Amino acid sequence: MKVLVLGGGVIGVTTAYFLAEAGHEVTVIDRQQGPALETSFANAGEVSPGYASPWAGPGIPVKAVKWLLMKYGPLVVRPAFDPHMWTWLLKMLRNCTAERYALNKSRMVPVAEYSRDTLKALRAATGITYDERSKGTLQLFRKQKQLDGTGGDVEVLKKYGVPYEILDRDGCIAAEPALAGVREKFVGGLRLPGDETGDCNMFTSRLADLCAARGVTFEYGTTIRRVVRNRNRVVQVGTDKGWRTADAYVMALGSYSAPFMRKLKRPIPVYPVKGYSITVPITNAEAAPVSTVMDETYKVAITRLGDRIRVGGTAEISGFDLRLHESRRRTLEHSVGNLFPGGGDLKAAPSGAACGR
Ligand SMILES: Cc1cc2nc3c(=O)[nH]c(=O)nc-3n(C[C@H](O)[C@H](O)[C@H](O)COP(=O)(O)OP(=O)(O)OC[C@H]3O[C@@H](n4cnc5c(N)ncnc54)[C@H](O)[C@@H]3O)c2cc1C
Repeated sequence: MKVLVLGGGVIGVTTAYFLAEAGHEVTVIDRQQGPALETSFANAGEVSPGYASPWAGPGIPVKAVKWLLMKYGPLVVRPAFDPHMWTWLLKMLRNCTAERYALNKSRMVPVAEYSRDTLKALRAATGITYDERSKGTLQLFRKQKQLDGTGGDVEVLKKYGVPYEILDRDGCIAAEPALAGVREKFVGGLRLPGDETGDCNMFTSRLADLCAARGVTFEYGTTIRRVVRNRNRVVQVGTDKGWRTADAYVMALGSYSAPFMRKLKRPIPVYPVKGYSITVPITNAEAAPVSTVMDETYKVAITRLGDRIRVGGTAEISGFDLRLHESRRRTLEHSVGNLFPGGGDLKAAPSGAACGR
């Protein structure tokens, strides 16, 4: 079958790989000049099925107000006259009940576990490397109240059989030795030893090479303008370089899928959430993290990727606005500088942002 994959991020390229393995004739279209150059470019590097949880949960509306008022807060909302923003926020609020959380979580966990197993199998089959590590993730609590409040999360982890460790200060330092120098800044943590880390852009780029070797065609620098439907089937895709047809189409345009799906009269509950990251070259490996440390207070993930530290965070709800705000970078610098002082050269870190978590 001839399949057209719309979008060359981690989802589009991974889909193309498995379709090619299944014997299909696959073409990937992307507006960028290579794979994984938008949201999949510089994410926080966590491969964390253990944390596969809906953002919408009981207590989130109250926490959100607190976060909005905090210095170095993890949430920013830039209200706009965009009905899709308000519809999405309303849907999110409606899902903040215990019942909806449990239902959504029960849907996410099997997908996350399947993805984890598939990633392991893919690694074994191809030998692909992407600065990956299998050393777990550590959620670090600066306040006793955060540590005492892990009960709900632990119940969920137990329910789904996810291995976990509740750690005191010394336990956190045993997992992340560089934290020894700042032991007074935190009280403990929750570690998920089964979680992994890795560079999403490196993974996707190398998988795209493996796809090309299996006959997948990549049409980069091609912008999709229209997706045309006839009755219940997509029949044609219009690009700035002409029309494309196939037997089947895969929509993998990340958050940009939503406007196309609305036009196809198949709306999906997706709205862009902008995140920020910086990538810090390591200057002293002993003062750098071993894996991911999630600074719970600021919701900043600090991840070791080879000889770099990737620092990612902030949920900014501002539509498809890609502008970078300097204050968000300061939040990331504050968190990593506070927990891993001397680990890397912050001034040498380029920053980036991407729409669409
Ligand atoms: C700061 C940050 C940190 C994150 N941290 C993590 C993490 O630690 N762990 C985790 O699991 N997830 C994380 N995420 C989320 C994760 O990165 C995304 O879910 C994932 O990259 C989405 O991949 P995708 O392929 O769906 O979308 P994308 O990577 O956005 O791919 C979509 C592709 O479609 C193309 N495209 C869009 N519109 C058009 C068009 N009209 N024509 C042609 N091409 C088009 C784009 O160029 C792009 O390449 C993070 C996200 C951010 C922003």
